[in-house]
Amino acid sequence: MATALHVLSEQTEQRLKQPQSSWIAGRFIEGSASQAIINPSTAEIIAQFSAAQEKDVEAAVRAARESFDQESWTGLSPSQRGKVLWRLADLMEEQGRLLAEMEMLNAGKPYAAASQGEIPFAADCFRYFAGWCSKLDGASKKLAGMPEGEFLAYTRREPVGVAALIVPWNGPLVQACWKLAPALAAGCSCVLKPAEETPLTVLFLAELAKQAGIPDGVLNVVLGGADIGAQLVEHPQVDKVSFTGSTAVGKRIVSAAQGNLKKVSLELGGKSPMIVFADADLDAAAAGVIDGIFSNAGQVCVASSRLYVHHDIYSALLEKLKVLAGAIVPGDVRDSEASMGPLISKRHCDSVMAHIEKAQAQGASLLCGGQRLNKAGYFIEPTIFTELNEDMDLIRDEVFGPVLAVQRFGDEDDIVALANDSEYGLAASIWTKDISRAHKTAAKIKAGLLWINCHGLPDMAVPFGGYKQSGWGRENGEEAIAQYTETKSVIVRL
Ligand code: NAD
Repeated sequence: MATALHVLSEQTEQRLKQPQSSWIAGRFIEGSASQAIINPSTAEIIAQFSAAQEKDVEAAVRAARESFDQESWTGLSPSQRGKVLWRLADLMEEQGRLLAEMEMLNAGKPYAAASQGEIPFAADCFRYFAGWCSKLDGASKKLAGMPEGEFLAYTRREPVGVAALIVPWNGPLVQACWKLAPALAAGCSCVLKPAEETPLTVLFLAELAKQAGIPDGVLNVVLGGADIGAQLVEHPQVDKVSFTGSTAVGKRIVSAAQGNLKKVSLELGGKSPMIVFADADLDAAAAGVIDGIFSNAGQVCVASSRLYVHHDIYSALLEKLKVLAGAIVPGDVRDSEASMGPLISKRHCDSVMAHIEKAQAQGASLLCGGQRLNKAGYFIEPTIFTELNEDMDLIRDEVFGPVLAVQRFGDEDDIVALANDSEYGLAASIWTKDISRAHKTAAKIKAGLLWINCHGLPDMAVPFGGYKQSGWGRENGEEAIAQYTETKSVIVRL
């Protein structure tokens, strides 16, 4: 492999030397930076951060509460707020190189994917929701049980209040923006908690938000792990929790939020099926399978980790998958030759390897991959298992790594039941040229996201979220605004 590594900008080099701490009421708080931030491509320490303490969480929630109660954000006109969010998107793009380099180093994203994909996508989120600031209309209502003309009835959409936003490490900036943009457009004040592995880009985002004109206290960031998240979720001054992460933690959050019955929305895990029918365009399907499971090294909530292939094309498709998977180059994402990055941490890498070893012990057959690379970073080969049956854990458990489980099917009537046989219901995709079959199958699959002849394409305008144990509520589009607003009904006797 070529060894020409991406050269960091001076600005990024300088930024990494600064100790990182929580951002509360418009400034970084004092702290002793004692926790390491690791580059998963090299296992090297790239920066240090200080985790928030209990009193810092208190201060962040207080700052958010005060800014909300004093209407420092909602007091601006909707048009002014829209302009601020738009300006934030512009600033993010102006600082695109720095953001992309930090996402590359901290989250293991290839630079091209970060600079041309994640960063502009995250910025555009604020542009999309900037437009919503001036469109949070209510409706006038005709009373069903009263004489015409004696009453006026209407609804208002009001911000829910202080929102705690908790995100994972697999898309640190995008996941944060998917929550912040609609929450701010709705008029909420926020306390954001990134994953402890990946705090860098959201801290910079907070500074940019201040520069764009978000008033102090409206956007706070607290650093730390589960204990800090739990404190936020239990806090009586927090009105809303929006969480993205594992289903196991999602369940804990539901219990912890019951004290003051916070509104809770959850974007959780998945074990998404991809179905390839016999008439599919095989080259397109093969490329879709590879991208669906190996992009971001499989650390994608909608990763298509269960593949069902019609037996007429099973051998032909597997042949193509073997070739395409073999061409993937796992490696340090600073190297432009690397086409797949690392797992986020040693702990996560060990967990993915344990799933691989268990699948082998249970009798699954390895088509390719299965090994951890002998490198300093946390790399696992693109791995494909065949000869699976429904009792094997690999069919049920979310691995969140570059591991694909392939099964063949014959009878079309069975495939929907197989696809739906999961506790998850986040996403699915169908590959066929038969438009009627595609839509009929799409209607029967229990998943919040359904792609036909493509997989994984997200869009700010399209609701994103899961059925069953993949979550509650939806991000993106108007449904995201609904997560951060309450509806008030007003009835007036005239
Ligand atoms: P995780 O659930 O361990 O952690 C997610 C976040 O929650 C982190 O910030 C963590 O510090 C925090 N946290 C942990 N315990 C907590 C607690 N008790 N109270 C409050 N906060 C707590 O998940 P992870 O391993 O970081 O991320 C991977 C998981 O996220 C996978 O299951 C993946 O499917 C899921 N995910 C889902 C989506 C989606 O949109 N559905 C998107 C990305 C990731």
